[in-house]
This record gives sequence, C-alpha cells and structure tokens, in this order.
Amino acid sequence: MTQYVFVTGGVVSSLGKGIVVASIGRMLKNRGASIAVMKLDPYLNVDPGTMSPYQHGEVYVTGDGSETDLDLGHYERFIDVELTAVSNVTAGQIYSDVISRERNGRYLGGTIQTVPHVTNLIKERIHQLADESGADVAVIEVGGTVGDIEGLPFLEAIRQMRNDVGRDNATYVHLTLLPYLGSTGELKTKPTQHSVQALRGIGIQPDAIICRSDHEVDLGLREKISLYCDVPTEAVIGLETLDTVYAVPLSLEEQGFGDFLADRLGITRSADLSAWSDMVEKLRDPKRTVRIAIVGKYVELPDSYLSVIEALRHAALAGDCEVVIDWIKAEDIEEQGPDHVLSRASGIVVPGGFGERGVEGMITTARYARERGIPYLGLCLGMQVMVIEWARSVLGLEDANSAEFDPGSEDPVIAYLPGQRELGATGGTMRLGLYPCKLTSGTIAANAYGTELVNERHRHRYELNNDYRERFNESGLISSGTAPDGSLVEISEVKDHPFMVGSQFHPEFASRPDRPHPLFREFVSAAVDTLREGAQHTMPLDESENGNVSPSAEMIERSGIST
Ligand code: GLN
Repeated sequence: MTQYVFVTGGVVSSLGKGIVVASIGRMLKNRGASIAVMKLDPYLNVDPGTMSPYQHGEVYVTGDGSETDLDLGHYERFIDVELTAVSNVTAGQIYSDVISRERNGRYLGGTIQTVPHVTNLIKERIHQLADESGADVAVIEVGGTVGDIEGLPFLEAIRQMRNDVGRDNATYVHLTLLPYLGSTGELKTKPTQHSVQALRGIGIQPDAIICRSDHEVDLGLREKISLYCDVPTEAVIGLETLDTVYAVPLSLEEQGFGDFLADRLGITRSADLSAWSDMVEKLRDPKRTVRIAIVGKYVELPDSYLSVIEALRHAALAGDCEVVIDWIKAEDIEEQGPDHVLSRASGIVVPGGFGERGVEGMITTARYARERGIPYLGLCLGMQVMVIEWARSVLGLEDANSAEFDPGSEDPVIAYLPGQRELGATGGTMRLGLYPCKLTSGTIAANAYGTELVNERHRHRYELNNDYRERFNESGLISSGTAPDGSLVEISEVKDHPFMVGSQFHPEFASRPDRPHPLFREFVSAAVDTLREGAQHTMPLDESENGNVSPSAEMIERSGIST
C-alpha cells in the first residue's frame, strides 16, 4: 500500500518547497523506495499554460504534453522520474470538474459544497496518483502558504487523508522560515510557531518541521521549536541557504531527516548517497568557468528559464566547468546593438518565447553568433529566429519573418502549417509533448545524440515553412532533424559553424544532473573550446558578478513586477 508524505509551507512563499519535496523523493529513492510525486496548486487557472512567465516562471512540459508547474521540473531532475498530467492538480481543474459533474446530474439533487465535494475530488486525484503509479511512497506538495484562502480545501483534503489511509501511513512535513534579526543577531522562531498554530487550527499536526534560514539553526533553537510545536527535536531540521540546490538532499540526510522519514514509513534499506554526493562535490569544484549569454524576453525573472539554467549546469558539470550566465534582455540588443552586450559570452542561448517583443534583438543575436562563429543554441523560438536571420541575410529575403510576428510577411519562413492544430482560443492549441525526430547522419546534432531517432518535448504553434526548406538546405542551413515522415523540420543547423543548432523542441526539459542533454552538452563543450582558444569574447571572471545574477532592482522596476 502507498504511504503518503504531505509537504506544506508556512510564513512566506518562495522558500523552496519544491526543492524540499524533490529532495525527499530523492532521499527515499536512494533507499530503494519507488516514488510518485504531485503538486497541488491552489490557483484557479486550469494549468499554468496560459499564465505569463512573470506570474508563474517557467511552464514545465511533461512527456505526455501537459503544461505544468515548474516544481515538476525539480521533481523530474532530482528523482529521475517521468511525470504526467496526473502529477499536477490545480484548483481550476478541481472546480471545473465539480461543476461539470453537477451539470451532468452526478450529484443527484444534492447541495454541492467545498466539504465533501471539492475535498473528495482532491482526494480522488491523490488516490489516482497512488493507484496508477503503484508507488511505495507518494510525496504531495501543497502549493502556497498556510493561511491562503484558496489553499484551504487542499489542506482540508490532506487532513482527511490521515484518517482515510491510517495514521501511520500519512506523514506531514511543514516548511517554514526563521527570519534573522540583524539588530539582535538572532533567528526568530515566533513566525514558525504561528504558522504551526494555523496548521493545527486546520487540524494538521506536523510530524516534522524544516526551517529555512540564512544562518545555522542550532540545537537550542530546534529544542525551542520542538517544545512549542510538539515535534520531536530530531524532526526539527535546519535548512540553511546552500550554494547549490543539489546539496539539499545531502544536508537533510546529514541531519538525520532521511532516517527519520524512513523510520516512519517503515523503509529499512539504508541510503546509498555516493553517486549524488560525488555529483555535488564535482559541482562545487569546477576546473574552469564558461560564460554563456541567455538572450530572452523574460530575463528579469530567471525562473522563466529554470530548466534552461539547469540544463546548462548539467552540461557544464559533464565538462568539469561552471557556467556563468549573462542575462541579456533582447530589447537591449535592439537598442544598443550586440557588440557590447554580447562581447563577453563564449556561447549564446536564445530560449523559447511567445509574442513579438524583443524578437528583432534575437534575430540580431543570431546574426552576431553566426558571423563570429560563436556557439549558439536556439530553443524553439531560438531556432525560429535563427531561421529568419538566415533567410534575411543569406537568402536575401529582407521581409522574411514568422507569421506569428508579421502575418503579412512576404516570406513567412516560419509559419503555421496547414493540417496542424487550429489556431483560435488560447490554451490547449499548441503542439505539446513528445514527438519523434529522425536525425540526419553526419550532422552536429546527429553526432551529439549518437543515435538515429529521438523523442523530444514540444510546446509551440509555428514551424519552419517547408516551402523554403530546399533553399535553406542548399545554402547551408541544414535540416539536421525531421519528423520521421519528413513532414516537419525539428532541428536546423548552420553548416561550417563550430555549433549553431536550433531545435523546434525544448531539450532543456529532458536534461538530468547525471545525464546532460546531448545538445546542451555539445553546445557547452563548443563554448569551452572557444574559451580555450582565448577568443576575444572571453574574459576573466569578475568575482563580484559571479554569474546567475538575481534581477536587479532596476530590472524589476522596468518589468513592473512588485516584489
Ligand atoms: N512562439 C513560437 C511558437 O509558437 C515559439 C514557441 C516557443 O518558443 N516555445 O511556435
């Protein structure tokens, strides 16, 4: 029978609950347990597919084509599981299901209420996850923070689960923040006490409390939290901000949290941490640094490109180096030109995106990378701008564009191909999920994969227009991957360039810490070669801006996001 671990959050949001859930999954998998994992999102959207990256960060696409919360990316990367739609439940899905059941007369004249109708549906989805996966342990994350109005039905549902599945089969973990008061130099436990009180008010007594903090959580503090919150001291865990998210499972293990959980869940096998610790050790000891520019629309919020960042890190790890990211707003290239802003990058990534803003800057970026032989990786939109640039500069089609940005373009080299999904309402109209791609032997892409056929995850509407395909291939923009029947171009690459490859799919979703995606791996390796040759666009690393920068106050202001 499946055991359940429920993870809730308190005090503030953005504490890294997804990473903790992913880490719990990893720790239990290291003990031989099979893991199912789920995110319950209390917002009313049916899925995050229609949300702006500014609202929600990256939309993570699973193999079955579901548009899901970015935490599912953490789960897949940490636990190395393939997830599906079953693993992301939103309030929007639950309510629309309840209402359509009501309209279909399924409730036989009853009054439909949050308890039990909404909560029953939530529990149905949790049971579905357990039944379909047959996993030993299901780790369930409740999004948001205790006290959120829309989270209440979800908390109520997981409260009821304890009774439904038996006390010993449900474990509750609460993640909180210990704020640091600079004036007195101490960590404060009061917000955690209040948060646990709020949780108890709903009827949930946590079995373990994980305290995020920027300082060491000493025994005295843990004893105090234990006393006030009724949790054994060994189940009060400190989680300091670490240099890499991949160290979280190790930090939790060091404090005995893995053993505590295993004990509660009746798992007797001890954990094999060796591969994971080796990976973290290697991550912490890079032999060199490679600077990669990400030129996109949403760079003020790097969470919009979470999987791209992680895929770059995995690829860098395989090459014993650390990746330092220059976040470049595509519009800045339109205003300032590429020379100054891109001068330091040894490689350039143009990631996915929708809408016209910044696209001309991306096209200029593709031209800069092509003309200077700088390694370039185009991800979906990044491939499309690479194609447009080629059409304009090499084929001389000055008006070339994507039908998405200029429906009246004389040369729509990226177009909505007939016979594909109908354009219309937003939501659910994209080509989503896994589709096969046949590689053209002898190309950079085929050599990177080392195989003939791959399956990759998609999320787009537009495609390379087949009317131009022959001219592209003849002029040196090679179709290095196509749909197996040849109907669609999946990968394009520039001939006689160190690495200029664009994919219509999103390889970043398939990268794992121990299995970098072949295209990312070869891209970073080409960037490192550029670095080795000491080309003019590489520069020594300035300690003060050691990569992965958080958005500056100015960037945030410009984007109009409130913090
Ligand atoms: N906007 C483009 C399309 O719909 C690219 C999408 C993407 O980059 N994911 O085809």
